[in-house]
Amino acid sequence: MKSKTAQSQFSGLDDVYASLELSSSLPRFKFPAHERDPRNVFAAVRDELMLDGNSRQNLATFCQTWVDEEIRDLMNLSIDKNMIDKDEYPQTAEIEARCVHMIADLWNAPDAASTMGCSTIGSSEAAMLGGLAMKWRWRKKREAQGKSADKPNMICGPVQICWHKFARYFDVELREIPLEGDRLIMSPEEVLKRVDENTIGVVPTMGVTFTCQYEPVKAVHEALDKLQQKTGLDIPIHVDGASGGFLAPFCAPDIEWDFRLPRVKSINTSGHKFGLAPLGAGWVVWREASDLPEELVFNVNYLGGNMPTFALNFSRPGGQIIAQYYNFLRLGRDGYAKIHNACYETAQYLAAEIARLGPFEIIFNGDSLKGIPALAWKLRKQANIGGYTLYDFADRLRSRGWQVPAYSMPAHREDLVVQRILVRHGVSRDLAGLLIDDMKRALDYFEKHPVTKPLSAAEASGFNHG
Ligand SMILES: *Cc1c(COP(=O)(O)O)cnc(C)c1O
Repeated sequence: MKSKTAQSQFSGLDDVYASLELSSSLPRFKFPAHERDPRNVFAAVRDELMLDGNSRQNLATFCQTWVDEEIRDLMNLSIDKNMIDKDEYPQTAEIEARCVHMIADLWNAPDAASTMGCSTIGSSEAAMLGGLAMKWRWRKKREAQGKSADKPNMICGPVQICWHKFARYFDVELREIPLEGDRLIMSPEEVLKRVDENTIGVVPTMGVTFTCQYEPVKAVHEALDKLQQKTGLDIPIHVDGASGGFLAPFCAPDIEWDFRLPRVKSINTSGHKFGLAPLGAGWVVWREASDLPEELVFNVNYLGGNMPTFALNFSRPGGQIIAQYYNFLRLGRDGYAKIHNACYETAQYLAAEIARLGPFEIIFNGDSLKGIPALAWKLRKQANIGGYTLYDFADRLRSRGWQVPAYSMPAHREDLVVQRILVRHGVSRDLAGLLIDDMKRALDYFEKHPVTKPLSAAEASGFNHG
């Protein structure tokens, strides 16, 4: 605390950084007792945000880190709109419904104008809703047959954590196909080994978190068709299209992974990933309205009208949905294809350059027919001079602000450590070139200063996989 005489040197005219309020550290653990000048508090909070990584250099995230001015303006205009108050903000509700139909059309739903779907806060919530609908449909079918419905299971490849959450929160056994050798995604054979009468569905991912590859939805679909012919088991598919849902329709339209395949009953996607909406937008769409069990839909009438809702959250911001609609109108199919194809080209450029550096072997090179605009590599055996691990390499790149995650693969390839770059809107070719320069500097550094105690997975900084 300043002495009285010291305090008297402060006045309302003070420069922010010469003010009384910023002359000591701000509270961290106790609820503040008094008011403060908004100008000073704003400066302090803004300055604290500087310590976060620079999101544009965060090559770990799949999420949007660049938006245009119009989106900022729309977000500002809609800061007061609550997505759940559909009666109070009917136009925002209408915009959400239009987005659902446009997405259903993008995914080739048989009747896009009448499908059911909704916005969510992201793919995780959307996955919970898709998973719940699968569980409900399976249970109704089992009960109608007079069979037990207490041991549901679900089959997937290496999934994002949201599916582990779904399985645990909603009591479903997760049959996650382990990796084997160079097979780092699911295969139809491995799916068939795990299917039984208690399987609520199979969940392939279009854009696996770990390697960025598309899983073979159509081949799995065909295998399930054959299974049905042989055994009568009718197993539905939910596709986790968190990334691929907004990529394949524009950049690989011939891949059949969506509602063109009759077994695909629902799909989730993240609007805030390749949908190019700001953070907080996800979508889930059912093939036909009848694929969403009506017991899961609540009719809310105490807000004025009578509105159906299916969501885990109640209040939720509307701005992201409005921005999503803006993107659809602004870009159209052509605009999305241009942006995403530019990202694919940059990913392929990076893959070629990184392969040329020497110590690295590319395991995914950003091929738009095989996965998302991203790349992943591993360290060649014996190739590295300097004794570094990919964790050390990632750590070194951090000193220039780049966040390039290194992580080990899931079971049974925990031995395989990979590093990955996501190329998103705003990761330009020029920026990619600057990253390559920094990679060369990092390798030179390790050559001159060999690593005596390489970083282990446990010591390395954790990266998100979203
Ligand atoms: C990102 C991601 C999720 C989770 O999505 P959020 O929008 O972050 O909730 C789920 N599945 C896959 C394949 C993802 O890439």
